[in-house]
Amino acid sequence: MRRALLLLLIIFSVLNSSAQEVSIDGRLKPLLDNFFELCDSYGIEYHEKLFALKKIAIVEDLKTSPDGSVLGMVQRDEAGNIHTIAINWIAMLDTEILKVVAFHEFGHYFLDYSEHVCNDCDIIMARVNSSYFKISNDWENQLEILFKQSPTYKKNQSIITATTF
Ligand SMILES: [Zn+2]
Repeated sequence: MRRALLLLLIIFSVLNSSAQEVSIDGRLKPLLDNFFELCDSYGIEYHEKLFALKKIAIVEDLKTSPDGSVLGMVQRDEAGNIHTIAINWIAMLDTEILKVVAFHEFGHYFLDYSEHVCNDCDIIMARVNSSYFKISNDWENQLEILFKQSPTYKKNQSIITATTF
């Protein structure tokens, strides 16, 4: 009996360590699902990247102040690999802001935007956004820009071109 229990424990710990678990905050899950649907429609693969992450989380420790808050960021390990996508809880105060901030951070990671496209130009991948509402009112067009202008999409297109001609 004791041996059986021990074996069970060993099997359990082996299973546990091999299962790659990504912790995803339930409040971000619908946005992430929506983002992945778009990845599918643009032919962008995301599974491998998703499983390389530890967390997609709403956090309370990003800078929050009246003169400017960090609403979201990607966090890296010492080797420079992104392990966490963090969204400031304050972004949750408005569903439209949360949507733009989440898609911005997803864009950094899943679409390989290593840089911002501009400082403040009412585009999802701008460095700062003084008007989230302009973006949100122009959402479908914004999504098209986000995906079609992304480094990942452009890279895929150039591979397709190269194999076609
Ligand atoms: Zn950014």
